[in-house]
Amino acid sequence: MDNNKLHFLSKIADILTKELDSSELVRELKTVVSEYISIKDLNIYVFDPNSSTLRNYAENWGIIDESLNSEEKESAYNAYETIHGNDFVINGKAYKLPQTISEISFKIDSLYMPVVKGGMCFGVIETIFEENTSIDMGFLFLMKIFGSQISLKLQNIVLNEQSQINVEFHDAMKNIAKIIETQYELNYIVPLIGEMLDRFISDHLIYVFLKQDGEFKLIWPKACNDERIFEVLNRLDPSYGFILTNDDKIGAFPLLTDGEITGCIVARSMIEKLSKRDIDYLEQLTRQSAVTINRANNYSKILQYATLDALTSLNNRRQFETRLKQEVAAAKRQQKPLCGMMIDIDFFKRVNDTYGHAAGDEVLKQTAAAIKELLRESDIPSRYGGEEFAILLPFTHLDEAKVVGERLRKAVESTPVTIGEDDAHKKNINVTISMGIAEFNPEETGEELFERADKALYQAKESGRNRVVTV
Ligand code: GH3
Ligand code: MG
Ligand code: MG
Repeated sequence: MDNNKLHFLSKIADILTKELDSSELVRELKTVVSEYISIKDLNIYVFDPNSSTLRNYAENWGIIDESLNSEEKESAYNAYETIHGNDFVINGKAYKLPQTISEISFKIDSLYMPVVKGGMCFGVIETIFEENTSIDMGFLFLMKIFGSQISLKLQNIVLNEQSQINVEFHDAMKNIAKIIETQYELNYIVPLIGEMLDRFISDHLIYVFLKQDGEFKLIWPKACNDERIFEVLNRLDPSYGFILTNDDKIGAFPLLTDGEITGCIVARSMIEKLSKRDIDYLEQLTRQSAVTINRANNYSKILQYATLDALTSLNNRRQFETRLKQEVAAAKRQQKPLCGMMIDIDFFKRVNDTYGHAAGDEVLKQTAAAIKELLRESDIPSRYGGEEFAILLPFTHLDEAKVVGERLRKAVESTPVTIGEDDAHKKNINVTISMGIAEFNPEETGEELFERADKALYQAKESGRNRVVTV
């Protein structure tokens, strides 16, 4: 082999061992080939079986239909289709290399080489030359080595991407299954499932609906203004499994409980149709989500008669409603003061987002414990929902309640929550709370008392958080 060819191959080898992103890789290959022979362009197209399209590797797997004119597109697709079992497509025709190198030379405009794995072609390398460039057979042998080196590189990349997706898929499945270990409130669980699916199926929009009183109600995200999605929902039938719109851009995957549709996960693609792979993943994730939701439902049925919240051991919402009625009646009867306090943890979503939901749960637990510890025996703390606490303070006027409130606020502010098992993983999380307090007036209902406390809480949030507002 002459020195030029050796030099060329050694430079290619250098490039292929570097850590380059796809566009840098193709750009550098192009530079090295250009140093050897004058070319107009070099591209790598990889076939995506899910969408049956060629993708431009340098442009982040973009579909080539969007980046090329129709003639260029046609020649790439034509090359991909005719190259199987051959070594090259030259000027539109497929060729195999002979066993020996002869002196023949060719005029060439375009050259395609297969990207192969285990004898199967999964893409093409396209080289566009200046018109009627003269090449000899030695050059074709050289390009064959070049092509097979790139094939090896791409096999690794494609394989890695696939295994990365598999790892993420199993994580998503595991995480959806795991939510239930600590939580059973659907308005908490369903948005979490939505977020997890959304993170995994990042190319498409995800919606989660639950059936309530015979109608599909959107639970995650907050809004959906695509009429077609609602049409699809109405066509669901438990015996069909999932359904797709005619253009394959919207897929609806029903959540089933004992063969009945109790909700639906919808994936909507903005540009491309849903691929077979997306559909496969969504089917499995939907099945896992249904298991989680059904378990949560069963769990809440069992807990229907419970009075304490499982996470914080404070009164649960149901018990709060009962106690509120009792305390309001007592306050009226005995003409004694009563205060209602609403507490909400500040920026709690950030704790979840930064440290994970288990840490969020720990913060809830420790904050609840801190609140409980500082209250009197006669005070009635409850977990109102999520990261909100409602407290009833019987025999208490507004000014006293405010003192209690300030004491709670300061205690929470000055005691960081510690998470992590051992010293190496320990972290302190600073927590603050906002609070609204209202004093009961005998003209109102218990519900109205807490509406006022909630408004005060809202003002506490609006005016900067970590504060107590009384009304
Ligand atoms: P703000 O200061 O305005 O109250 O901000 P915030 O982030 O606290 O409020 P937001 O209402 O946006 O977020 C509340 C978060 O609490 C969202 C929800 O996922 C989370 N959450 C609710 N219940 C639980 C729970 O039981 N455990 C955990 N870890 N998170 C929960
Ligand atoms: Mg809140
Ligand atoms: Mg909050």
